[in-house]
Amino acid sequence: MAQKTPKIKHRAKVELIDSNGRILVDNLFNRGGIQESTNLHGWGAYLRVPVGKKIGRVQTFTVTVEYLGEKQYKQTYQQRVKALASSEKRREKFQKQREKEELERQEKELLQRRKRIMNQIELAFVKNGKEAVNFVTCDKCDANAKFLGLAFENPGSSVIVPEQITGAWCEEHDNKYARPFKTKTAIACERLEFFYDGLRQIDVKAGKP
Ligand SMILES: [Zn+2]
Repeated sequence: MAQKTPKIKHRAKVELIDSNGRILVDNLFNRGGIQESTNLHGWGAYLRVPVGKKIGRVQTFTVTVEYLGEKQYKQTYQQRVKALASSEKRREKFQKQREKEELERQEKELLQRRKRIMNQIELAFVKNGKEAVNFVTCDKCDANAKFLGLAFENPGSSVIVPEQITGAWCEEHDNKYARPFKTKTAIACERLEFFYDGLRQIDVKAGKP
């Protein structure tokens, strides 16, 4: 990453003078009429102008702008370079930490979804149900799931293993741009059925694409 350098602030004095020669300064934006910015030359200074309440009455003001030069810092430039570098480093560290936490959260939620779906499949076996479509519910609502998200395809196998499952969603919550974490592909629940051959398994019905 390119080393960032501290920006130089420029200072300008802005005065608003009314027709009676009174200096009006808006302290909200212009502290004592003095403004500091890294981009005073590009964007200019801010100015707030009072507005009277008489319709049709025109007021005239005089605006004076004086460039005061660069802001003088208490720290030397080298100290500022050093301070900026260490704050960048801290920021990057926090950013990495946040990303790591986000991944952990996603991973945890994925495991919770998978566990829920496997529990629903367990229930299907208990109830002697065959159709996945009647037991697996959406990640986001109570509706029956229309699709099961899969983390990877399992070519040559007609069996879905639990490690493949990333989530499930109903028609309303079907958003191909926001599939559950790690979802690479999806399979319609109507293509799934359960069978037991010593192991409880989810089978993809042959025939349909
Ligand atoms: Zn839903």
